[in-house]
Amino acid sequence: ELYNKVLELKGNIRVFCRCRPLSSEEIAAGSSMSIDFESAKDGELTVISNGAPRKTFKFDAVFGPQASQADVFEDTAPFATSVLDGYNVCIFAYGQTGTGKTFTMEGTKEARGVNFRTLEELFRIINERQKLYRYEISVSVLEVYNEQIRDLLVSGSQQGMAPKRLEIRQVGEGAHHVPGLVEAHVNNINEVWEVLQTGSNARAVGSTNANEHSSRSHCIHCVMVKGENLLNGECTKSKLWLVDLAGSERVAKTEVHGERLKETQNINRSLSALGDVVSALATKSPHIPFRNSKLTHLLQDSLGGDSKTLMFVQISPHENDLGESLCSLNFASRVR
Ligand code: ADP
Ligand code: MG
Repeated sequence: ELYNKVLELKGNIRVFCRCRPLSSEEIAAGSSMSIDFESAKDGELTVISNGAPRKTFKFDAVFGPQASQADVFEDTAPFATSVLDGYNVCIFAYGQTGTGKTFTMEGTKEARGVNFRTLEELFRIINERQKLYRYEISVSVLEVYNEQIRDLLVSGSQQGMAPKRLEIRQVGEGAHHVPGLVEAHVNNINEVWEVLQTGSNARAVGSTNANEHSSRSHCIHCVMVKGENLLNGECTKSKLWLVDLAGSERVAKTEVHGERLKETQNINRSLSALGDVVSALATKSPHIPFRNSKLTHLLQDSLGGDSKTLMFVQISPHENDLGESLCSLNFASRVR
């Protein structure tokens, strides 16, 4: 309740910044940090270059290298409540490859991320509300690669066939739908875990280098919620989108050719389209350019209006990544 009021006051877009720790290899190589969390105020961080503070950024929350998955989720959990209250929610992880987008969203078996924890929270609240509401939850897992949508839950992808391609259709005023997309009905968190695993396994199919492929495509989980108020029969429908975006690193056009150049152009196009849409929403612009990419087109119904958006901006602490970190931090400041 209180949280929703705070969100309203501050607008419906929040930006959290998360910085991964230096890896053991980086520490062994004597690398130093280019980000200072200590001397900045709460919710701020300062970029350091050549030993001197260069620029300070302010976000709704800042998670340093020591922050745990549970710490991050504590501030993310209110979005789960919003979904069950009937709001559409989009949660994105943005940043250079290797900064922890997948760690934040998917996590590991030992340190589960936002995707699993959010669904766990949904089922916890559903249980708490069972005398007043009945909910139905289903999950789709898809990927946008080279401006093409692929369903990661079709059984063909588990058998080594290329996943089926899908299109976005407009169904009535402002509503969009992807005909044929598999929606897996889930009754509990164990079933969710199976669906998430099926999706992640299917992602690698058909690509020679799984890591490279995943850093060049957007991985999207859509959680559809149907709610019924048992007292007055009122029904709600809402969607939660969990998006692990393609790597935001800039690739020099002179270094890539052919397929790789096309991939790079598609990534740049969809990430800048996302930035344009979110910043147009933040400034309450009358025209929101949803149609400029498959990603924003797909999420159109859940961006803007009374929907809530959370963007994780992931950065590396390494001095060699300073340029990319500044780009990501500037991107984030623009959408806030
Ligand atoms: P991305 O998806 O942005 O390319 P990954 O999530 O694959 O990045 O992270 C790169 C590496 O860094 C992985 O080995 C991951 O486990 C590790 N890592 C990322 N963020 C953290 C963190 N906050 N704490 C510990 N390890 C992390
Ligand atoms: Mg990743």
